[in-house]
This record gives sequence, C-alpha cells and structure tokens, in this order.
Amino acid sequence: MAEINQVDFDDLQVTEPEFEQVSEEYVELNRRLDDATAVADWLAVVSDWNELRRRLAHWHSVVGIRFSQDTRDDAACEALERRDALTPKLTELAVEIMRRLVASPVRSELEKELGDTALLLWDCEITTFDPAIKDDLVKESELDAKYTELMASAKLDYRGREHTLSEIAKYAEDPDRDVRHETAAIRWNWFLEQQDALDGLFDEMVRLRHAMAEKLGFATYTELGYRRMQRIDYGPADVDKFRAQVREHVVPLCVELCRQQADRLGLDTLMQWDEAIHDPAGNPAPQGEHDWMLERAQEMFAEMNDEMAELFSTMRRSHLLDLKSRDGKAPGGYCSGVESLRLPFIFANFNGTKGDVEVFTHEMGHAFQWYSSQPISLVDYHWPTCESCEIHSMGLEYLTWPHMEKFFGADAERFRRLHLTGAILFLPYGVAVDHFQHLIYAQPTATPQQRADMWREMEETYLPWRDWGDLTHPASGRRWQAQPHIFGGPFYYIDYTLALTCALQLWERAEEDRDAAMETYLGLCRMGGRLPFRRLTANAGLVSPFDDGCLERVVTKAASQLSS
Ligand code: ZN
Repeated sequence: MAEINQVDFDDLQVTEPEFEQVSEEYVELNRRLDDATAVADWLAVVSDWNELRRRLAHWHSVVGIRFSQDTRDDAACEALERRDALTPKLTELAVEIMRRLVASPVRSELEKELGDTALLLWDCEITTFDPAIKDDLVKESELDAKYTELMASAKLDYRGREHTLSEIAKYAEDPDRDVRHETAAIRWNWFLEQQDALDGLFDEMVRLRHAMAEKLGFATYTELGYRRMQRIDYGPADVDKFRAQVREHVVPLCVELCRQQADRLGLDTLMQWDEAIHDPAGNPAPQGEHDWMLERAQEMFAEMNDEMAELFSTMRRSHLLDLKSRDGKAPGGYCSGVESLRLPFIFANFNGTKGDVEVFTHEMGHAFQWYSSQPISLVDYHWPTCESCEIHSMGLEYLTWPHMEKFFGADAERFRRLHLTGAILFLPYGVAVDHFQHLIYAQPTATPQQRADMWREMEETYLPWRDWGDLTHPASGRRWQAQPHIFGGPFYYIDYTLALTCALQLWERAEEDRDAAMETYLGLCRMGGRLPFRRLTANAGLVSPFDDGCLERVVTKAASQLSS
C-alpha cells in the first residue's frame, strides 16, 4: 500500500469544473485525434482523457457524498443540482471521444493495449446518449433527487420520538410482535400520505425514460436500460431464464423456510411484520454501538488481510466512513470512490440491528475492490459493471463469517444461519423487483393503479407467502415505492441476485477452503472491471448464474446447511 498522507475528507475541497474550460480540453483532445496516426498517438490521447475523467469523477463523487450526508444543506443541494445539470453536457463531450476511439483505424491495437472490454463498453455507451436527450437526463436526476429528499424528510412519530425511515426500520426486528405491527403501520401510513407524490414522481420518471428511449431509436426503455447498465454480454432473455429458475427452485424452498419460521415463532400465520424476525429470542444484534463496532471491525480486518486492515484504518482516520444515522441524512448505504485521494468512502445508516454488520461488510467489499483496482490506469476499469461489483460486496459478507463472534458473541452462529436464510429469501424479492420493472417499461402509459396491480401480481408469483393483514396500503400493491432502486436505478436490482448466486459460490468455496476462497476474492478485486460479467466470473472459476443448474446447485447446498 502506498504511503497515505494524513487527509481529512471533511476538509477536502472540491473544485467545480468550468464547462468552458473542460470543453476546451476536449477540443484539444479532438484536435490531437485528428492528427493521430500511430497507435502511440491514440494511446496518448486516451491517457490524457483518462486523467481528465478522473478529475471529473472526483468532483462528481464528492458532490454526491456531501449531499447525502446532509440533504437539508442548501449549498450541498445546489452543488448537486449544478452537477446534475452539467453532467449530460460532459457526457456529450466524452461520448464524442468514445465514438472516435471505437471507430479508430487502429482499434484492434487499442484493444490489445487497453483490453477489449473498454472498447465494448464505449460501443455500448455511445448508443445510450444523444444531445437530444440532454435535458431529459437533467430532468431525470432532478426527479431522483426529489425522491431522495422526500424519503429523507420522513419524520415518523413513535412513542413520542421522531424517527427517520432508516430508524423506524429497526423495529421490524423487535421481539415484541405488537411493536413490529405498530411501527410497520406507522411506516406504511407515511407512504400512504405520500401516495400521490410517489405515484406522480414515478409516472414522470417512466414517461421521461420512455421518451428518451424513443429519441434514441429504441422501442421501449428496457433496451436502453440494459445498455445504461453496461450489459455487454447478456440480455433480457438471459435474465428472464434466471427468473424462471428462481420461480422453479427457490420460491418453493422459501415457502418452506417461511413455514418453519412461523413454527419457530409459534405463529399460525407468518404476517409481513413477522418476516424479519426468525426466532422467538429475537434476531441477534451487534453487542455494541458505532465506535465499538469500528474497533471490532478493525480487529476483524487485521485477522483477514493486512491490506484490508490498513485501508480500513486509513478510512477511519480520514473520516471516510459516515455510518451513524441522523436527521437529514439520505437513507441507505453505498460506497463511492474519492479519486483525488485514491481512497473509497462508505455511507450507511446504522440502526442497531444485524443489518449494520451486513451493510458495513457489504460496503467494505465495494471499497476494497475499488481500492485494489486503483493500479489499473483506465478509469473505466476501476469499478466493474454493477452485477460484478456486487460479488465483491456480498462475497466479503460471507468471507467475514468466521469473525462474527466479535460482533455477536454467542449469537454468531444464529447470525450466520440467518444471513444465509436471508440470502435465499432475498432471491425471489430481488427478481420480483426486476420483473416488475420489465412490466413497467413495457407499458409506459399504465396508470398508477395498473402499476400497483403489476406489483401485486409479482408478490403472488414470487412471494406467495406474503400476508399484509390489515396493512391495506402495501397490500394494495405499493410496497415497491419503498425500494429506491425502482426510482433511481432502473434495472439495477437483478444485479444483486446475479451477484448473490456468485457470492454463494464463494461461500461454498470458503466452507471447504478458506484461504483458497480469499485468494479468489483478492484476485477478483484486483481484476476490477477489466472483463465483463460472464468472462469475469469464468476467469475466477465461478459458474455463471445463467448456466442451467447453477442456481439450483448453490441454493440446495445452502438449504442443506440450514437443515443440518
Ligand atoms: Zn452493493
């Protein structure tokens, strides 16, 4: 690990790019491409363009982080608006360079030097942009920011105290059934109050995305959505086949798991508000708070891998971890790269449940991968495509298993079983979200009621055990409105299920040979995005989730572990 200067993210200044100045830099790059003859000329342009994109990525990332840290800060909010207004203009400039690179007379030499993945990604990206959709892209970011602000603005009163959505979520795991029911009712009542706002916001998003697709010559948004997700080696037919495997092999298993869960809890019917709780003793929770958890995490990484431990301690020192829940913070968790520091940043909203450990190990997996890929010069490879990224994050969740005693003490084994159960139960939900989006974008003019009906159909197909009882609002088909990806990250969600199928293979390998699994993991992290999904997994010796029998095999293995 390179020497890291003492840096403090909180003090980090970010220079906002001037559009005029950036376009001048692009004019110069284009002029050099006009004159380029030798491969070296082309590569020199790629290299300088890469540095420019690194600078812009830094600004983009830091502005996003600052906004999510305090969505009520006017300056952060305005900086985000300026960023989102400028981004499509910058994309236009970048796409122009990509067009020239993929059409280069020395393309095959460029592929040899840079790897063919970059060229394939650029082939894909240039079809997702046209100046005609610039304003639509700005509008799309505005709508997404509106959703984030609306969710962050929720103030839910429970027993005389105000809660954010992240904070109230912890009661879903409360051992007291009445508490779980009451807080679920409070939460969904808030969504009911926002129904018109959320239906309206989503309707605008869907129509806008459909219009963008049409302007780019696609029949529906789905094809554009796949391309925006940079899927260069699989398509909707593969994903459809994967969903069919989930219906066939995973849904029946989940029905059985839920039946066993009800038995353990001594319930006739497992209601929706019971789903998050798996035994009468309540779910295992971390045995300490934020600071204590960071200490345990530091010990854990020290036992796992020196580089991971060093990265983590640097991130702590540099305030590159923002994990405590507080008012005004955006919900959820993510990892983002801070280019100027060559260091990652992790965002989460701890709420005292086992989810804190899961979110944290998950995001640290992203962080470690991005950090491990920094020696690769091309920014296109610093993150792989999203479904591959989620292998690193979910993979680390499993690789940290032997260290869970640090967080959960005697409850660690219960945690591990729950973690695995949760993974299996997640698959049907994950593909339901994905299938829903395919329906949504196939019928862009559907009414809010028709969309709600589509979601109900998804719940019946993939989550047949779900019983909302007297919670009439989510029962009416609007549970999806609590899922941010459906608003801000169309077609992202399947990535978690594809990656989980790969991460479960890492789990399998780790059960047999922990060191070998860690080596596979480190290799994957260093590989970054140099290969697209199917080639990346094959290269790591993992079976593709699209291959017949892959899902069935890993899920059966997990199920047999759970019944032992
Ligand atoms: Zn992730």
